[in-house]
Amino acid sequence: MKPRVIILLGPPGSGKGTQGLKLAKELNVPEISTGDILRRAIRNESSLGRKAKQFVTEGKLVPDEIMMGLIDERISEQDCNRGFILDGFPRTIAQAEGLELVLGKKGLTVNLVINFTIDLSSLINRLVNRRICSGCGKIYNLKTMPPREPGICDVCGAELFHRDDDREETIRERFNVYRKQTEPLIKFYSGKDLIKNISADGDINSIFQKIMDVVK
Ligand code: AMP
Repeated sequence: MKPRVIILLGPPGSGKGTQGLKLAKELNVPEISTGDILRRAIRNESSLGRKAKQFVTEGKLVPDEIMMGLIDERISEQDCNRGFILDGFPRTIAQAEGLELVLGKKGLTVNLVINFTIDLSSLINRLVNRRICSGCGKIYNLKTMPPREPGICDVCGAELFHRDDDREETIRERFNVYRKQTEPLIKFYSGKDLIKNISADGDINSIFQKIMDVVK
């Protein structure tokens, strides 16, 4: 089967990470979260991390050239041969155009863009209460999906952390950035007839079911 490239689009907190990980498991392909890659690089103080740190901390976008280099390298890895899911990339029209070029060189194309639709006002609460496992990346919510033991991942036992940019002031900036720079991608991909809208309101499993219906 030809590898499939699926993009998850949507505002911060709309469930791209949670659903992306589930979908990746189901399809047995990697989930590539550019946010996760950047956070890891920042934690490791790598040269990518040093370049990205200030942008990520302030809720701004890391420059397109840096992101294109990062994605080109990542999707050239062996595990992407069967296809992959992109979470958080592209985030600008320039990145979407760059992605077409990079995929074209590999004989690939974007097959599906799942756009998570949700009222922005309901997202602040989700993000303020979001906690992430530092080991396996599983995403929790202190109100709606808390871990069994506070601060500890149910799956792997590692510590949970609160993202520095999941604080109210930075969240507002990330929403502004999303509206200005990322939302135009909806039109970009609609024009190519690739978008499927999915309401991100509701419980995790029923949203996942809707995604599977679209993916099949
Ligand atoms: P996320 O985990 O997807 O919410 O990303 C966290 C942060 O990483 C964003 O607020 C940006 O600072 C940075 N980032 C992630 N993906 C991208 C991208 N495709 N382009 C630019 N910056 C990004």
